[in-house]
Amino acid sequence: MEPYTSLCNWQRSLFWSARHFVSSVAFSFVPPMYLLYLDESGNESDPKDRHFILAGIAIFERVTFFLAKYLDEVQTRHFPGVQPIPFHASHIRTGMDFWRKVDPKVRATVLEDIGGVIKRAKYPGAVLFAAVVEKSNKVFGEKAVEFATESVCRRFDTFLLNRGSEVKEKQRGLLIFSEGRFHQRARVWVTGFRELGTRWGSLKTLSDIPYFASMRDTRLLQIADYVAYAAFQLYEKKDPTLIRPILRQFNEQNGTLHGLIHYRTTPITSPCDCPACASRNTPSNFGSWL
Ligand SMILES: [Zn+2]
Repeated sequence: MEPYTSLCNWQRSLFWSARHFVSSVAFSFVPPMYLLYLDESGNESDPKDRHFILAGIAIFERVTFFLAKYLDEVQTRHFPGVQPIPFHASHIRTGMDFWRKVDPKVRATVLEDIGGVIKRAKYPGAVLFAAVVEKSNKVFGEKAVEFATESVCRRFDTFLLNRGSEVKEKQRGLLIFSEGRFHQRARVWVTGFRELGTRWGSLKTLSDIPYFASMRDTRLLQIADYVAYAAFQLYEKKDPTLIRPILRQFNEQNGTLHGLIHYRTTPITSPCDCPACASRNTPSNFGSWL
């Protein structure tokens, strides 16, 4: 795995150098950029999970600093003077690692506060995306991952094209995956992404290959983790607690949640009343699951 590690570090430093250049030299010479931070929830191969979810947040480059700062402030409010604690939503919810000795009421409040930060990050500064794939004997494992990634990339691409028309200026996008869960497939993604992107019908706005970063190192991937976990809780457990406050932050147009995608792969015998399907059937109706 060593070659992969050095490739990854090299890419990461190049990425941050490029970001620094963009930030410090001249916004006017490069198209504005959205960074889409992505994480996954649900095991794509384990049959005990019925869903695989890829989800995250697209953040306008000049907003990234502020969102990270607001999350740091959540930590300072609850745990002042402590080293940065990664906000891993499932660990906070279930009391794992650092959170084991934290009062459940405090854990619930921390999750509410993270949801509050996402809720206040309004369009066009930040927009949410999630692809929920219901697994079947035909769609599981790598196929489920590829299916979800294709869906999210296409939606992000369309969002950037629409946003470009809105402001009459071309918008670019960059993907940043959480490397922990994607570690095994990282090499395939990096080397094969352009080919995949072409097969998906040419993604017009993505600037480069995807990048990988550790969730521990950036608060913004911790937001992606929250969004993926919140969607998983809704679809897998029918628990809307975490997604309810942030639902309207998904990419939405005229009452339809384009940014939230639900793929049902099992035989469909009845209409689905989840927020994604309900809003496609009747705009501004977010269904009965909430
Ligand atoms: Zn649905």
